Amino acid sequence: MARKLRVLFVASEAVPFAKTGGLADIVGTLPYALKEVGAEVKVLLPYYGVIKQGKAPMTTVAENLEGRLGATGLTFDVLTPASGDAPFYFVERDEFFERSQLYGTPKGDYFDNLERFSFFCSTVLPVCQNLGFQPDVIHCHDWQASLVPVYLRHRWQGAEILNRAKTVLTIHNLAYQGLFPKGKFPLLGLDWSLFSIDGLEYYDQINLLKGGIVCSDAITTVSVGYSKEIQTPEYGYGMEGVLQSRAADLHGILNGVDYQDWSPENDTLIPATFSKSKLAGKAKNKAALMEAYNLDPKLAKAPILAMISRLADQKGFDLLAAVLPELLTQDLMVVILGTGEEKYHRWLAQEAPKYPGKLGVKIAFDNALAHLIEAGADMFLMPSRYEPCGLNQMYSLKYGTIPVVRATGGLADTVEQADPATGTGTGFLFSDYTPEAFAKALQAALKAFKNQKQWRGLIENAMSQDFSWERSASAYLNLYKLLVEGER
Ligand code: ADP
Repeated sequence: MARKLRVLFVASEAVPFAKTGGLADIVGTLPYALKEVGAEVKVLLPYYGVIKQGKAPMTTVAENLEGRLGATGLTFDVLTPASGDAPFYFVERDEFFERSQLYGTPKGDYFDNLERFSFFCSTVLPVCQNLGFQPDVIHCHDWQASLVPVYLRHRWQGAEILNRAKTVLTIHNLAYQGLFPKGKFPLLGLDWSLFSIDGLEYYDQINLLKGGIVCSDAITTVSVGYSKEIQTPEYGYGMEGVLQSRAADLHGILNGVDYQDWSPENDTLIPATFSKSKLAGKAKNKAALMEAYNLDPKLAKAPILAMISRLADQKGFDLLAAVLPELLTQDLMVVILGTGEEKYHRWLAQEAPKYPGKLGVKIAFDNALAHLIEAGADMFLMPSRYEPCGLNQMYSLKYGTIPVVRATGGLADTVEQADPATGTGTGFLFSDYTPEAFAKALQAALKAFKNQKQWRGLIENAMSQDFSWERSASAYLNLYKLLVEGER
């Protein structure tokens, strides 16, 4: 195709505007990387209260367009950032989006999330018509955008502006599917025949993600490993059958890392920069990290094992709890940075005083400290139960902080088992989700740490890895082209 491929992203969050998780990083970054490889991308997002209150001035590009909720027409405006050439467009309807949070409060999800996001999905057609934007591909993210492929197939067949659009659905975390009671089905504006086993029905509930999986031309997830795992009962959250039926159209494309933010050579948030060939700065960062966590200076030569994480069951804190007492009898230090579930806050607050100078805990979301940890620690632990992609292990590799990870999803795809005999590998992996398997991997890592030459080799291997966005963007572009050229 001689002209640029036109892609519309539909998503519920994007940095720097609104973020609850890794989805926002991808939606906020990938469009720029796609532009670099030659696509024209626009991104459609809800205009949340947090964006409205933010500093970015906006320009209204369309007023009084009409979206739908069931059979009812509801008006909305479209805004775009006033400065620069940002590809973001926001759907403004305060009734749905002018709230303090994106999806709900700590007390629970907003009661009308089905209404909010079915309305949001319905705006794709009027927005494209108004902007005169005829997408070749509509790339939808997670359950919040999953109705778009359904509407394209079942409601918008006659719409000329969308008549060449192929659809891609990216699943960032299968645990979130957009489940709603059957009684709300009429609000989707779809025929009841679609409330069926090969439609949006799931154990007598509405499952929006399932609708997206069934109706999209292609489905992607954020690593090859996770794309295989989600087709099994262990990781499929009940969706394994549907995903198996779409196996031929299901692809794994690893997320990229924003190396402008995460490179030890030019990180402005750490006391000393360093590189593969000039590692001296890493020791300075280690000293600063020990100070930040009040660790025992006598242990300066011992390794620091680190975790930065949402404190959630997914991340394997039960395994950490099981190995921690034995681990801390050895000459080493452990630092943890995280926020999340209350039970983990309590547990960590209880443990820290038992190991003064050896176990450092900070319950916070602190980006600068996260950078210092990546730069100053020796090992990074991710014993995740499942991990669609994972970013921290990729940051760790770049900072020469050797990952000790469970061989699941994106972790298995990005960390290569160290082999002392050949000097190959970048980290330490274990398979079984058991304390014994985790402890064994930790012991292998601690043994390797004692051999300076071997450890140095590992650091070099790790720091040589490249998970930049260009690779991911090219993979997405190839997939778009396959779809558009009708080969899939
Ligand atoms: P997930 O998206 O499942 O939370 P990832 O590893 O993919 O896990 O991404 C987590 C991102 O959030 C990383 O950039 C990580 O550094 C950051 N992060 C998580 N918890 C904290 C925290 N407490 N403080 C600072 N950054 C954090």
